[in-house]
Amino acid sequence: MTAPTAVIEISKVSTRFGNHVVHSELDLEVRRGEVFALVGGSGSGKSTLLREMILLRRPDSGSIRVLGVDLQKLDDDAALALRQRWGVMFQHGGLFGSLTVRENIGLPLREHTGLADALIDEIAAWKLAMTGLEPEAGAKYPSELSGGMMKRASLARALALDPELLFLDEPTAGLDSHSAGGVDELVRKLRELFGLTIVMITHDLDLLWQVADRVTVLADGRVQGIGSMSELSHMDNPAIRQFFDGPRGRAAQQPEKQQAGGHGSGTIAGPSSKRR
Ligand code: ADP
Ligand code: MG
Repeated sequence: MTAPTAVIEISKVSTRFGNHVVHSELDLEVRRGEVFALVGGSGSGKSTLLREMILLRRPDSGSIRVLGVDLQKLDDDAALALRQRWGVMFQHGGLFGSLTVRENIGLPLREHTGLADALIDEIAAWKLAMTGLEPEAGAKYPSELSGGMMKRASLARALALDPELLFLDEPTAGLDSHSAGGVDELVRKLRELFGLTIVMITHDLDLLWQVADRVTVLADGRVQGIGSMSELSHMDNPAIRQFFDGPRGRAAQQPEKQQAGGHGSGTIAGPSSKRR
C-alpha cells in the first residue's frame, strides 16, 4: 500500500499580471501530513499562489494538482467536490457579519450536506470547542469577537466539513503575542490529532519555528530555498538571509533551542514574548 505522499504538486507554474511576472516556472510539492509554509516579502506572490491552489484563479501556464486532481481539467461538479475536501482560513477571517459564529460555522454544512439543523448546530458546537472557543462564542456576531477569537471562529468554519487539507493565510497576523501563541499550539494539534496537511502563508517567525515542517522562500518569481527553518537558517541565498538576519529573524531564532528541549511546559504561549 503506497499512499501518494504529494498532496499538492505545482509544476512549472507561471503567473503574470500584464508585464509583471509574479511566478516563473515554480515547482513545489506539499506532502501529506506536513505543515508547509510559504514565506517571502510583500508582493512576492504568496497570496496569488494560494488563490491558484484553491481554484480562485488560474496560472498563465503550468499545472497544479491538488489531492491527485489536475485543477486545469476540472468540470464544475468535480470542482465542487474538490472544494469540500479543503478548508481555507482567509487572512481577514471572511466571516459573514450578519450571521452568528455558529451560523457561520454551519454554513458550509448547510450548503453541502443534507444534515438536519439540530445536527448542524451540534457539529458547529464541536468545531468551536476544537478551536478553543467557549460555547457562548457561538451566539456572538463577528463584530463582537476579539482578533484571536475571530481567527479561531474562522478556523472552526474552515474545519466544518472535516477537510483533509487546510490553507491558512497569515493565521497570526494582527494578534497580540498571547493569542498568536495559542494559534501555534492549535495548528500543531490539528496536524497531530487529525493528520491534516496544512499550507500556511505567514510572516510570523515564531509560528514558523514552532510548527512548520518545511518552509519555502519565494522571491523574484522563484523558489529561493526549501527546508526546515533550521536548514534555511544555514543557507546563504541573499533572499533567505534577508529573511533571517533582520531583527525579527534574530529574535525568533531562539525558540530553536526550546524546541530541542521539548516545548512541553503546558503553556500555549510558546516563545511569544518575542513576538511583536
Ligand atoms: P504577496 O501575497 O506575496 O504579498 P500577492 O500574491 O498578493 O503577493 O501579489 C503578487 C504581485 O502580483 C504583487 O505585485 C501584486 O501587486 C500583483 N497582483 C496581485 N493580484 C493582482 C491583480 N489581481 N491584478 C494585478 N496585479 C496583481
Ligand atoms: Mg498576500
